[in-house]
Amino acid sequence: MANDSGISGLRVLCQPDADKSCGACCGLYNYADSSREALVSRLRARSRLFREMVFSKEDLQDYKRMIIGAEDFRKRYEEIYCCEYLGFLDKEEKKVGCLLHPQQNCGNDLRDISFYGRELCAGHLCPSHYFIPNAQVEILVKIIDDWYLYGLCITDIDLVKTYFRLLADKIGAEVKPEAFQNTDLKKIARRYFDWKVDWPFRSPDTNRLGKYYFDGSQYMISHIDYESLGRPISPFNSIFLSLSTVFRSSREIALAEELLSSNLEDFISIYNKLP
Ligand code: SF4
Ligand code: SF4
Repeated sequence: MANDSGISGLRVLCQPDADKSCGACCGLYNYADSSREALVSRLRARSRLFREMVFSKEDLQDYKRMIIGAEDFRKRYEEIYCCEYLGFLDKEEKKVGCLLHPQQNCGNDLRDISFYGRELCAGHLCPSHYFIPNAQVEILVKIIDDWYLYGLCITDIDLVKTYFRLLADKIGAEVKPEAFQNTDLKKIARRYFDWKVDWPFRSPDTNRLGKYYFDGSQYMISHIDYESLGRPISPFNSIFLSLSTVFRSSREIALAEELLSSNLEDFISIYNKLP
């Protein structure tokens, strides 16, 4: 939501460059079907309709009625609002964002009509702004040029911070953003973040986003039952939870740990050779 908060001292992560953006807090990933294909066709249809029929505030009610009539609004979490005004901001469909924003409407701010209201939409900064260090944001922006993956990763504080902490522990210093000029290093880190979408041990349960699930009355943090699988708690536990992991055997835990260990080792062997 927030891309014009005007708050200084914080990097605004929502619209970092021309190649990507995030719309997670507008409910982007909260549809029962939040696959890339489903979101692309939803956002494409909205942007097209908005451009065709919205020329002033008076047109917004008709736009809303048509979107609500046409789309499937079943959600993952009922409590999170899925905003009907989130769409693609550009012809190339690289950036998701608010169709009511003044930059999309010749300077007219139409966000008064939104569910959250103009002030909240313009001023909200999600926790990632406070908890992910600037250098790590910079790295993410360098390695991910894809709105779908970017929004999933930039809002997953554990996924980002745990990776860079594990690397820093082995290197003996924080990973430097400049290192990502090296394309091999970029590929290895990108492989890690791609797991947010294609992790082989991901739970097929659609009512789940990262480590949270809804038990019918409240959000719960999911849990991996290592004991019943005869394993100690994994040093990668918080990453596994972020990747919505469900293990069915001790062997699967070992395989998942191997995947992560070799990603870290590959990264470090190249990083340590950099000038
Ligand atoms: S979830 Fe955070 S980064 Fe994404 S649009 Fe909202 S405030 Fe910006
Ligand atoms: S009105 Fe715009 S900023 Fe507000 S929730 Fe909807 S898409 Fe997001």
